[in-house]
Amino acid sequence: MAAESENSNCNAWAARDPSGVLSPYSFNRRAVQSNDVALKIIYCGVCYADVAWTRNVLNDSKYPLVPGHEIAGVVTQVGADVKGFKVGDHVGVGTYVNSCRDCENCNSSLENHCPKAVYTFNGIDTDGTVTMGGYSTHIVVHARYCFQIPDGYPLAKAAPLLCAGITVYTPMMRHNMNQPGKSLGVIGLGGLGHMAVKFGKAFGLKVTVFSTSESKRDEAINLLGADNFVISSDTQQMESLKNSLHFIVDTASGDHPFDPFLSLLKAGGVMTVVGSPSEIKMQPASLILGARTLSGSLVGGTKDIQEMVNFCAANKIYPKIEVIRIDYINEALARLVNRDVKYRFVIDIENSFK
Ligand SMILES: [Zn+2]
Ligand SMILES: [Zn+2]
Repeated sequence: MAAESENSNCNAWAARDPSGVLSPYSFNRRAVQSNDVALKIIYCGVCYADVAWTRNVLNDSKYPLVPGHEIAGVVTQVGADVKGFKVGDHVGVGTYVNSCRDCENCNSSLENHCPKAVYTFNGIDTDGTVTMGGYSTHIVVHARYCFQIPDGYPLAKAAPLLCAGITVYTPMMRHNMNQPGKSLGVIGLGGLGHMAVKFGKAFGLKVTVFSTSESKRDEAINLLGADNFVISSDTQQMESLKNSLHFIVDTASGDHPFDPFLSLLKAGGVMTVVGSPSEIKMQPASLILGARTLSGSLVGGTKDIQEMVNFCAANKIYPKIEVIRIDYINEALARLVNRDVKYRFVIDIENSFK
């Protein structure tokens, strides 16, 4: 019996096969090593990645699979060599839990682009074990991949910052989309898009939301503070915005044409893709005319993540969330697929596992 409990010190919910249906599961987390932080998970955000990997969309899922990479919790133990964290601190863990810490990318705070980066779930860690995500009661992680959440910032709302928040913040900073008075287009108004609107307004930008759904107009303008709302299939409205935007952040996960959006950029304008369309097709002229740039981005490095969390705390930027219990997760994932969430589900892990 002792051996059995040693092998399962962490309660979780896991998918067992490509049906993606999650159910209770337990497994063992490693003991805290000298550079590790252990945290009790209080909340975990629900990302579209959780759907993709529980359902084996990329054909690389390793079951049982415990998803979740928007983790917010409280430090319960720190390793002997850890500096900057103490028991009781509010902290977060995002989409990766390890990297080589020795390559050009790691040495430039671009750990997310390290060739040996280990994702928070369904990754192979340096000890050969498959990583398990935040739909679980605790996690042990090297301190470099753990982030301070300032006192007073609600933990439930901190969770979505660790993937949705950083995914849009990093390209906005890289492409200088933080110059007050300039204009930003945001394509898609889900978990990522609503954060891009919030960052845009905090940076002093004039924000236009592009959506396929008229039903989002009221909230985009009145709740999120967007300046303009455009139905992207309305060719007349799209035409009237040609050459008018400095920047576009494209968060759409579905397939859509690129030329109509690129034509909205001013000369030298930048469009960044952070969603996951199945392909990108465009006329070369859409880039050549106006010397426009199309770029991509994937989450952010450790320095950017801490900076983004601090920026959200300082500017009172809070994701809009719907808190659920873990036993609602299968319905929640189905609703996420149907885009029926405003704007991020967050699992109340602490109360779900009592
Ligand atoms: Zn994510
Ligand atoms: Zn590296």
